[in-house]
Amino acid sequence: MELACLDLEGVLIPEIWIAFAEKTGIEELKATTRDIPDYDVLMKQRLKLLDQHGYGLPQIQEVIGELDPLPGAREFLDWLRERFQVVILSDTFYEFAMPLMKKLGYPALLCHKLEVADDGQITNYLLRQRDPKRQSVRAFQLLNYRVIAAGDSYNDTTMLGQAEAGILFHAPQNVIDEFPQFPAVHNFEDLRQEFLKASAIHNA
Ligand SMILES: [Mg+2]
Repeated sequence: MELACLDLEGVLIPEIWIAFAEKTGIEELKATTRDIPDYDVLMKQRLKLLDQHGYGLPQIQEVIGELDPLPGAREFLDWLRERFQVVILSDTFYEFAMPLMKKLGYPALLCHKLEVADDGQITNYLLRQRDPKRQSVRAFQLLNYRVIAAGDSYNDTTMLGQAEAGILFHAPQNVIDEFPQFPAVHNFEDLRQEFLKASAIHNA
């Protein structure tokens, strides 16, 4: 049995924090782990900024609801789901992703969770586990699935390495250079071909 695991942001949808910062004009929200390597420090800063600008979860979801999946993403995902069981593995939060998952037809999603007060204020965040993408692939392999995974960034590379086949999609050049063991493609048509190439079932 084969399972396809896909990263979400940068693969099927825009980077949520960047898109949210652009929609709202809150420039400081564009900081990523490249600017602030400690994820905990980065998230605390993000939550503080949301507070300061008066954004609770309902307002955030409204802004995210105006975003769209990347062009061709829905068609690619539908194509993939006809041929593989598909699970999205993401480092985002359910509460942020849901407005966009609707536009993708609600595929299975494993990610993190927010703590939200009754008035909508985001008070904290709960990471599901450490190295969650790789651990998810490991768990699927224990269920006798052969895993083909695709992602765009550093936080995907342990998942790609754990999978029987890993593919870089939309990855920046520094990631491609650092991980030459993974094929790197930049459009959905090439990604379809890489999935078919990596598949044991579709090559049987
Ligand atoms: Mg990504």
